[in-house]
Parts: sequence; structure tokens; C-alpha cells
Amino acid sequence: MASNKTCSVTPLASLNIEGGKTLSKFTTLRVGGIAQWFAEPKNIKEIQFLLLWAKAKKIPCQIIGAGSNLLISDSELKGLSICTKKMHKNTLNIKSGILEAESGAHLPTLARQVAQAGLGGLEWAVGIPGTVGGAVSMNAGAEGSCVAEWLQSIQVLPINGGKPFEIVKKDLDFSYRHSLLQKEKLIVLSARFLLEPGHNPKEISEITNQNLQKRTNSQPYHLPSCGSVFRNPEPLKAGRLIEELGLKGHRIGGAAISTRHANFIVNTGQATANDIYQLITFIQKKVQDSHGVLLHPEVKQVGFDISD
Ligand SMILES: Cc1cc2nc3c(=O)[nH]c(=O)nc-3n(C[C@H](O)[C@H](O)[C@H](O)COP(=O)(O)OP(=O)(O)OC[C@H]3O[C@@H](n4cnc5c(N)ncnc54)[C@H](O)[C@@H]3O)c2cc1C
Repeated sequence: MASNKTCSVTPLASLNIEGGKTLSKFTTLRVGGIAQWFAEPKNIKEIQFLLLWAKAKKIPCQIIGAGSNLLISDSELKGLSICTKKMHKNTLNIKSGILEAESGAHLPTLARQVAQAGLGGLEWAVGIPGTVGGAVSMNAGAEGSCVAEWLQSIQVLPINGGKPFEIVKKDLDFSYRHSLLQKEKLIVLSARFLLEPGHNPKEISEITNQNLQKRTNSQPYHLPSCGSVFRNPEPLKAGRLIEELGLKGHRIGGAAISTRHANFIVNTGQATANDIYQLITFIQKKVQDSHGVLLHPEVKQVGFDISD
């Protein structure tokens, strides 16, 4: 077990590597055990230091953005968990429409910022409470658009060590909620988007606000969740299959299938990661038995005996 003391021996003055940090504060489901080691770097130099530190200790690294698509188990998560949220700078060129954002930049904040600058392209992203790095990794999307539509390239660093390099969109193997980053051990440092300049800021902001309003009316934004739990088995909708079985409101411990949207599992207050995991398995079995469809989780499950 890691000690609960902060490890202060890093040569970088403002970088702490903490032992025994509670991860539930770093996921939107508000569940998760403790990280053996945890750090929040503020720049590339600090990330590079952390990767070398983990390599020297021969421990794995786990990247956490806003934790809005993560179900982390209740047990101790071995290795070093690196949360990117403190790397959130961005630059915007209003004329060319180029947005460069660090990996920890908050997607809804960027969506509002570019709308106010009269740039079209990210109106769909306002309700996705993730970071840029997580959104690229997941190819996050809504309203018929997604990251892949607007991204030009990313800067990455190999988790096992090495120098930063660029990957352009065509090499990122994007598809529905999928990218190369789900297979390769790379950490996104920053992303470059090409947006549409010359729009009326009021109009773009209004569309952005309407998109958010639509979601808060139909999805349980008032409770901790990870968004859609299952990928849609296209052309079917996971939520509809679950709702048809009358499962809305079904609970295991503190985890419940949302009464507002059946593809959401919410933490009603005291849920454990295991409650949520059991509910996922329960839904899969019910849908498989009645519709013959195996639902695949969209949420990344970490620290369980499975690889999804
Ligand atoms: C209320 C709510 C609504 C949502 N609605 C949507 C929606 O409409 N559409 C949608 O697509 N998603 C939605 N989501 C899910 C989630 O917000 C997205 O998947 C988001 O892109 C995840 O970003 P994150 O920073 O939280 O990533 P995390 O959850 O922290 O991580 C997700 C994955 O990305 C990896 N990752 C994170 N950062 C990096 C990095 N810098 N480099 C490499 N890998 C990284 C992690 O290791 C992990 O595998 C919703 C979630 C919530 C809570």
C-alpha cells in the first residue's frame, strides 16, 4: 500500500506526487478507490518528469482527464495516475479559426469561448464535461458532430518514454467513440482544431445554449454520472432497448438507471464502483436475454478484471 504522505522529493518545485489519493473526487460518477500515486502536472516538462519517474519505479501510468467517462474500481489503483486538468491553456486565432488547446482544457468552456468569438464548429460540445485529451481519445460527439470532424492534429508523448511528436487526423483511426489512443500508449499534450471563422457570435452562442438546454432537459445532469454508459448498437439505441424492458429506476445499492434517460447510470449518493459495475452487468444480461444484443460499455472501466 502507498503511504498517505505526500512524496515531496521531486526536483520540480511545484509538482507533488501524492500517495493514497482518493480518486472519487476526480470522476464525475464520484466513485473510485485510491491511487497508489497521483499527480497533476501543469506543463510538458512536469509530464515528462512523471513518466520517467514511473518508468524508473517500473509502475504503470493511467491518464485521467475530467474523469467523465471513467468507472474506476473501489480498490487501490496501482501505479501513477496522472490527471491533466491543470494543463488547460489555449490560443485562438479568430481570423483563421485555428484553436490550439492543451489536453486538460475543459470542452464546455472552449465551446462557449469559441462561440463568443464567432467561430462555428463546437456548438455540440457544450454538454460534454470532458477535457480535450479525453474527447480526442474517445472521439466524443453529439448532435451529429464529433471531435474527428474539427480536429487537425494532436501533440502526443509516448507513455513509456520518448519525445513529443505530432499525429495528424488521418492517422488517428477515428470512428464512433474510438481513436488510435485507445490502443496506443500515448498521452495527448495538446490538440489543434480548425473551426469556421466569420459567424455571428450571438447566433453561435444561442445554438450552443440551446444544445445545452436540450440535454439538461432530457438527461440527468443534476446527478453524478458518466454520460451514456453503453455504445449504441447502431442502428439501435441502447437507451431505448433498456427503457423497453422497464428498467428505468432499477437500483443496485446506490447506483440507479436514470428515470430521465435509460442509458445513464446515476450515483444517487452512496454508490460504490462495484454497485455501478453490477448494474452494468445486470443491464447487459437483461438486454442480451430479451433482444439478443450484447451492449458494449462506452465508459472506460479501470481496475476491474476486464479490458474495456
Ligand atoms: C453528463 C455527461 C454527459 C456526457 N455526454 C457525452 C456526449 O454527448 N458525447 C460523448 O461523446 N461523451 C459524453 N460524455 C462522456 C465524456 O464526457 C466524454 O467521453 C469525454 O470526452 C471524456 O473526457 P474526459 O477528459 O473526462 O476523459 P476521462 O473520462 O478522464 O478519460 C476517458 C479516456 O480518455 C483517456 N484520456 C484522457 N485524457 C487523455 C490524454 N490527455 N491523453 C490520452 N488519453 C487520455 C483516459 O485514459 C480514458 O481512457 C458525457 C459525460 C457526462 C458525465
